[in-house]
Amino acid sequence: MPALIVAGAGMAGLCAAAQARAHGAEVVVLEKGDRAGGSMLWSSGVIWRHRRWEDFRRECPAGDPVLQRALWEELDEGLDWLESMGARVTERATGNPLTLGRRFDPRSLTDALVRAAGDVRLKTTLTELPVGAVVLATGGFAAGRDLVREHVTPWADDLVVRANPWSTGDGLRLGLHAGGQLTGHMHEFYGRALPAPPARIEPGEFVGLAQLYAHHAEVVGARGERYEAATWSEIDVVQWLARQPYARGTFRVREHALSQRVRNLSVGEMIERAEQAGAVVGRENATVAVEVVAGITTTLGGLHSDANGRVAAGVYAAGADVGGVANGGYASGLAAALVFGRRAAIGAISDQVDP
Ligand SMILES: Cc1cc2nc3c(=O)[nH]c(=O)nc-3n(C[C@H](O)[C@H](O)[C@H](O)COP(=O)(O)OP(=O)(O)OC[C@H]3O[C@@H](n4cnc5c(N)ncnc54)[C@H](O)[C@@H]3O)c2cc1C
Repeated sequence: MPALIVAGAGMAGLCAAAQARAHGAEVVVLEKGDRAGGSMLWSSGVIWRHRRWEDFRRECPAGDPVLQRALWEELDEGLDWLESMGARVTERATGNPLTLGRRFDPRSLTDALVRAAGDVRLKTTLTELPVGAVVLATGGFAAGRDLVREHVTPWADDLVVRANPWSTGDGLRLGLHAGGQLTGHMHEFYGRALPAPPARIEPGEFVGLAQLYAHHAEVVGARGERYEAATWSEIDVVQWLARQPYARGTFRVREHALSQRVRNLSVGEMIERAEQAGAVVGRENATVAVEVVAGITTTLGGLHSDANGRVAAGVYAAGADVGGVANGGYASGLAAALVFGRRAAIGAISDQVDP
């Protein structure tokens, strides 16, 4: 069997490679960055799905129900598969009663998948389509300023890239070149409000510095417009912020709300962290005002694929390179990368055997 090329050693690419090898395929994984793991290595490692199918549909109504159903039905077995390879689980619940999942240690998850993937070549970028079958798993285009400007916001240069710096849309370009199509909802992304510059944020602080209290704040854009958070995940807030001038705004919190808890931190603790990172924090009339900026993590629009990851003849895609899963809302990017990485591998192998 000829070698399968996988572009990207992040969550989707490593799952694809591990799955293809388990099916006896010869696999080469090309990784643009100087390390494996992509954005997954910097993530919280919570791989989850909605507990009820109806909730998934309600929360992500613009996604493709066929893709969503595959994700919803196959995730639990996928989580067992990851554990069977030695990936370490640190929690067996998500903390959200509406969802089910497991939290993995991202380092251990990366190491286990790299072992299973086999031949991973770092600092090697896929720049053109190979002759044989390929799985594009390059992580979407969160770090591609031009594509973000074209599809997401004119303030692309002001967004903080809360993701690996190598996911600049290579998979998208290659998939389109092969004759693939884009999904709708190219403007949507998952991200978090972060302390605005002059605050400095290292990748290891992407999780800890998230400003996740829009529900307890008055949200004001740089032009003075106000916005009310509509979703529990606050994904709508960060998308709105991204389209304000300089992708910035202010979260104004009344002092009595500082003790409110969001997940494992109080609002006051999140603000303290922002201040320590160097953000501008003002205190006046029993109100604390924090300057925030939109941080982009994962783009949610991408290549159109069938449920087996097929984008065009011999060209498969997975993870954030594929759109149509979480559109209109928020779902686990790691879960999509796991399920569709494995599916794309099987699709690409079958394509080679029976083109
Ligand atoms: C701070 C943070 C917290 C997060 N927390 C969670 C969470 O708890 N739960 C969750 O579900 N999701 C979470 N996510 C999102 C999750 O990490 C992504 O959805 C997931 O990693 C997407 O997988 P992927 O394989 O598509 O991309 P990635 O994991 O980013 O991998 C893409 C890889 O492709 C490589 N690449 C790019 N271009 C090329 C090329 N031309 N040739 C070769 N290689 C290339 C990149 O270098 C990268 O290694 C979080 C992300 C961040 C940053």
